[in-house]
Amino acid sequence: MDWTLECSGCGLTRDAAGLPTVCEACGSPWLVRYPRPYARDARAELERRPVGEGMWRYRALLPLATGEAPVTLGEGATPLLEATRLGAAIGGARLLVKDEAANPTGSFKARGLSAAVTRAVLGGARAFVLPTAGNAGVAAAAYGARAGANVRVYAPRSTPAPLLGQIAAYGADLHLVDGHIGDCGARTKTYAAEHGAMDLSTLREPYRIEGKKTLGLEIAEQLGWRLPGAIVYPAGGGTGLIGMWKAFLELIEAGWVAGPMPRLFAVQSTGCAPVVRAWEAGSDHCEAWPNPETVASGLRVPGPLGGRLMLRALRESRGGAVAVPDAELVEGARLLATLEGVDACPEGGAAVAAARRLLAGGSVARSETVVVFNTGAGVLYGRGFAKDVDGES
Ligand SMILES: *Cc1c(COP(=O)(O)O)cnc(C)c1O
Ligand SMILES: [Zn+2]
Repeated sequence: MDWTLECSGCGLTRDAAGLPTVCEACGSPWLVRYPRPYARDARAELERRPVGEGMWRYRALLPLATGEAPVTLGEGATPLLEATRLGAAIGGARLLVKDEAANPTGSFKARGLSAAVTRAVLGGARAFVLPTAGNAGVAAAAYGARAGANVRVYAPRSTPAPLLGQIAAYGADLHLVDGHIGDCGARTKTYAAEHGAMDLSTLREPYRIEGKKTLGLEIAEQLGWRLPGAIVYPAGGGTGLIGMWKAFLELIEAGWVAGPMPRLFAVQSTGCAPVVRAWEAGSDHCEAWPNPETVASGLRVPGPLGGRLMLRALRESRGGAVAVPDAELVEGARLLATLEGVDACPEGGAAVAAARRLLAGGSVARSETVVVFNTGAGVLYGRGFAKDVDGES
């Protein structure tokens, strides 16, 4: 292993041996630092590797040492779709949809959990525990099964039934909690401490970010090693946003792409918008959101550990943050499904609704290339998640 870990809060560094969690000194998440910028020959090598290797085609840019094998189900290499009809419907931008529903386990959580479970198993972990809004639990259950490890999952009782069904189908030990993901996080902590299972919570280990980094690497490669103007991303825990920010910084530093960094926009539901509130207040950290409520369960994260990092990514990329009401994100999902044939999840619908607002308000110009994320499969939310929203029949 030739990478090290650097604390995103206090700058402390350490080696990557064992099973690192968060910074011992200040409790902030670690960021993986590589000894050299991406080499030119690494690019030629990855371009030669088969697309079927998915995100591990980028293994030279990921925390995988020579001779190590990843725990993989073929995640990544998802389509970046030209969405002409949807673009016209929401205000006329050149719109691209990164469709993460195409991943194994039905969401982009596959990328993060593939990387995290890979490193954890190589570090000696044999049992995992995590809190989930749904998709992370499904991915952890599947990658745990793939690695032959036990997985325990805490999910809110209100999680859509198909997501819970998938967690159980992959053989995880599923526990329902009366409350939100924060309450599930507390149960996770206790269980991990008492039973020695590794805690796979968002940003409580360093490698989910590296898996999500491949979102940014893929977008750059799919655009011919050019960067889009703006990226609109439904943010909950923030690993995707932070991962893409890190990807673009690393690519620009290595000279693989020219800057500037794409402007990153975080999207949340008005029912749970701690990042948007902090952004609008000019704050560098998030305050816990009381009574989080939204059908976009992936966005129901009232107190994200990665709040500071997300706000830094938004600031440094000169992006922003947008909250949309549930009725609007449901309409966004309907447009994405009916105009483009994409199996839109409510979080993807939120990104569409936010892109429409950004175009209408002039924060994003019609001449810009805009990437909107469909982060997961709509089918996993059950028939008609729209029906739970006021004003929908
Ligand atoms: C987890 C999740 C999100 C939020 O992603 P983060 O990277 O944690 O911010 C968005 N959409 C879906 C479908 C999710 O499962
Ligand atoms: Zn620290």
